[in-house]
Amino acid sequence: MRRWSEIAEQVAATTKTSEKTAILAGYLASLAPEELPVAAVFLTGRPFPETDQRTIGIGWSGMSGAVLRVAGADAGALGRAYDESSDVALAVAAVLRDAGHAPPPAGEPTLLETRDAFAAIESAQGAGAKAELLEALLRRASPATAAAIVKVMSGELRIGLREGLLEAALAKAFDRPLDAVKRAGMLTGDIGRTAVLAREDRLDDAAMTLFHPLKFMLASPAEDAAEIVRRLGPTVWVEDKYDGIRCQLHRRGDEVRLYSRDLNDISGQFPEVVEGARGLPWAGILDGEILAYRDGVVLPFLQLQARLGRKNPSAKILAEVPVIYVAWDVLGMDRDQDTVVTPLLERPLTERRAALEALTLPMAEDGGRFALSHLASVDSVDGLEAAFAEARARRNEGLLVKDPTSGYSPGRRGLGWLKMKKALATIDCVVVGVEVGHGKRHGVLSDYTFAVRDEASGQLVTIGKAYSGLTDAEIAEMTRWFEAHTISRHGRYRVVEPEVVVEVAFDVIMRSSRHKSGFALRFPRIANLRPDKPVGEIDTLATVTRLYEGLQLGAEHLVTARARQ
Ligand code: AMP
Repeated sequence: MRRWSEIAEQVAATTKTSEKTAILAGYLASLAPEELPVAAVFLTGRPFPETDQRTIGIGWSGMSGAVLRVAGADAGALGRAYDESSDVALAVAAVLRDAGHAPPPAGEPTLLETRDAFAAIESAQGAGAKAELLEALLRRASPATAAAIVKVMSGELRIGLREGLLEAALAKAFDRPLDAVKRAGMLTGDIGRTAVLAREDRLDDAAMTLFHPLKFMLASPAEDAAEIVRRLGPTVWVEDKYDGIRCQLHRRGDEVRLYSRDLNDISGQFPEVVEGARGLPWAGILDGEILAYRDGVVLPFLQLQARLGRKNPSAKILAEVPVIYVAWDVLGMDRDQDTVVTPLLERPLTERRAALEALTLPMAEDGGRFALSHLASVDSVDGLEAAFAEARARRNEGLLVKDPTSGYSPGRRGLGWLKMKKALATIDCVVVGVEVGHGKRHGVLSDYTFAVRDEASGQLVTIGKAYSGLTDAEIAEMTRWFEAHTISRHGRYRVVEPEVVVEVAFDVIMRSSRHKSGFALRFPRIANLRPDKPVGEIDTLATVTRLYEGLQLGAEHLVTARARQ
């Protein structure tokens, strides 16, 4: 693990992509076969592969307790160190270094031992047991190695390494075509498995396997109809942007499984969709959204919320808030009933949609549990504006504008799909600090400071502060969460664990030195809590810059935007 941590530092120390790739390629090529997948997965800043459902389940308090016991430091030491760097791993290293902590002569934990320790922490019951296991691991680690362990564990690698770069490094390490590595990466959804296939020259063996969720294709925010048509057009496909729960459906024979956006199995929560998808004459994988739906009408998201997180919904709730599955894509399909399906990811959307429409699906209008997304083709700015207005009239959030020639890129926020919503774009941010409010909110933590991610450095950079627009009940619940996840306090202000994703609406983006991002928002407001969205998917500084540049198109754009409100 020490060598891994040195490599991570070397990668962080250079901004040149070619140097990062060369360092990684040399390292990956030098590893023993069983170490390679572990090192590769850790390099994505995760203790387990992304498609693995396990999470380590140890938060700030468990982790800080373990570190403080190893260091013999006082309770506030880690919080103070975090305030210096805003980086958990650097704070851990500083506290251990100040305490003069050194690993025992028996040696530091290896990559494989670290992997096993993560698995043991994950399966341990209770915060105390988990913290004890982590403490034992950290006792054997130098401050630098401990920092690396914490980085991987907390998913905060921050070494400026994107998965694309790791794929390039694998291609170089084992002298394989980059396209073949990328393709395998798309199908396995597991960089460790991809690494093994690259090493063994078996990239062509990568297969799309049913009941192994793939990452979802994501959309980039876009506002201006003219810009969208210029970018994707002239002919673009528009679909309504539904406000439900994103869901990947896998099915074969009587076996049906549903996966959420963070790749968790949520089949138990929606038994009527599972039931409705049984016994169809095809095997495959669909992408779509779960919506609450009764008597021909889509119910508001607020109603669907009653179904969230209920593993075994009662007959009463099933009757009150029935759901359907609206499909918009097919990622792989087979007419025979094999577990390996033919991937359609690289086929153009036109072909995938045709395949989707050809499938037998029991439709909601006939009493089934399925529908297809509302799709239209437009080829002008006016056409797009009109489609937007129509989608809004159907009470949907806005549009998903898709390039009909585009492939499906799992896990990528590409430009093949653009989302056009509300009057002005919103951005997804993570809350990094909270304060008690004023007036009737003086007893609760209702003022949030939020950040986007600077992809170049991996750092979270603040962009604004807003009074929460949430309900009193939501604020009370969030207050409890923030109290339990406070890292340090500074008078009224608390630095909190960067875990809560919020969708922030605003009027204008401005350049400003007030926040670390170099931007500020005019009239920011918290539009929604986004518990469905992993922190890894918040918007980036690059997106903010693009929106800023787009919004500089002039007053005309803003007038159009306002008039639509
Ligand atoms: P957002 O959650 O704001 O990042 O917007 C992207 C999300 O819109 C996707 O993750 C989907 O859950 C959702 N969505 C709604 N309708 C569609 C559609 N027709 N095609 C693709 N994504 C859609």
